[in-house]
Amino acid sequence: MNILIAGAGIGGLTAALCLQKIGHQVQLLEQAPKFIEVGAGIQCGANALRVLDYLGLKAEIEAIAVDPLRADFREHKTGAVLHSLTFGQDYAQRHGAPYLHVHRADLHQILANAFNDRAASAVTFNATVASYSEQGDKVTVQTENGRQFEGDCLVAADGVKSVIRDQLLGHRAPVFTGNIAWRGVVPADRLPADFMDKIVSNFVGPNKHMVIYYLRQQQLINFVGVVESELWQQTSWTQRAPWQQLKDDFAGWHPKVQAVIDAADRDQCYRWALYNHKPFSHWSSARVTLLGDAAHATLPFMASGAAMAIEDARILQRALDQAPNVGQGLQLYQRNRLARTAKIQTMSTQLGRLYHIQNPMLRRIAFKGLGLLPGSKDQYLSNYDANKITIK
Ligand SMILES: Cc1cc2nc3c(=O)[nH]c(=O)nc-3n(C[C@H](O)[C@H](O)[C@H](O)COP(=O)(O)OP(=O)(O)OC[C@H]3O[C@@H](n4cnc5c(N)ncnc54)[C@H](O)[C@@H]3O)c2cc1C
Repeated sequence: MNILIAGAGIGGLTAALCLQKIGHQVQLLEQAPKFIEVGAGIQCGANALRVLDYLGLKAEIEAIAVDPLRADFREHKTGAVLHSLTFGQDYAQRHGAPYLHVHRADLHQILANAFNDRAASAVTFNATVASYSEQGDKVTVQTENGRQFEGDCLVAADGVKSVIRDQLLGHRAPVFTGNIAWRGVVPADRLPADFMDKIVSNFVGPNKHMVIYYLRQQQLINFVGVVESELWQQTSWTQRAPWQQLKDDFAGWHPKVQAVIDAADRDQCYRWALYNHKPFSHWSSARVTLLGDAAHATLPFMASGAAMAIEDARILQRALDQAPNVGQGLQLYQRNRLARTAKIQTMSTQLGRLYHIQNPMLRRIAFKGLGLLPGSKDQYLSNYDANKITIK
């Protein structure tokens, strides 16, 4: 088939590679003028790694990643550990693949290089998809600059603000969740060599939390700080915000949090508002489907946005391969992804509430007794094998 994919982010590129691998021609349409290095840390569990392994990219990704030993959930002021999750060898043995932290730009680059090396057809940049039309056994895409592309089916991997989703499902504005997120990366050599073990430190406190972990073979320290606030509602991955506001948001927090904030470049702190969609009941028509954030944007508390897009890509490929025609293939894909992605969306929202509990005693109890949510995250999230799971 000739398959159009709108959006060459993590989901679009993974889908392109999966589809191309079984002989489909892919046309990727990307609004940006080129592949650009943007973003910061994303987390890749065994569930995502299995698909990337299928694409022959696991070793390349491991070479630029960090495999954390564990994740510690810590009191925001004292640093007392409330709960720990083991990663490292234990995790790899449990799941047959490691848990990795990767820089989004590095993962994106590896996927883009593989696509450029292998694909039968290429990516078109400056192609901002504006709308589509389905006629008979074809679908045509129109771009904002007046170009048209025709294919046998269209995969919308155009992110949380997907225009194709708006046309397919009717406009459903994402809802502001009352959370804003800060992110940045700091060269690790700006901090003492013994600053932190190779772990994820997740400082939790009233209405806020801050996650700190290494990236790029421990050359960088990534931070993401989430704050409940109504003061900012713009969402963009590339919007910088004043460092002083970040500093003020985490005033009085643990010295490690202060050290990372102090080491950040004053003009390199990014802030975006977190929007959510309620899970959709469907996301495919006869020749058009959604994938990744376009289909199931989720809060970052399960650190699973990229992994869900990667799983989608493999299941879409298998469904199109297994079904007798495109329409049934898209239905098969949707049917096998709706429940899992909806559950991740719900679990993310619940985990956010847990992180932000106000009362210190309740917080301790919740993390001690509960452990459940992070525990079930490990089971539910990581055990999924998109290469093998039966789809029907
Ligand atoms: C610039 C950027 C930086 C990010 N940084 C982080 C980060 O630091 N940490 C993190 O956890 N997650 C980050 N994410 C989100 C993360 O990549 C996604 O949640 C996850 O990977 C799911 O990917 P996706 O492919 O569904 O969507 P995305 O990664 O958002 O990709 C969507 C792609 O579609 C393109 N696009 C959008 N609209 C159109 C259109 N109309 N026509 C054509 N192309 C279009 C976009 O330019 C983008 O390349 C970032 C996303 C982006 C786009």
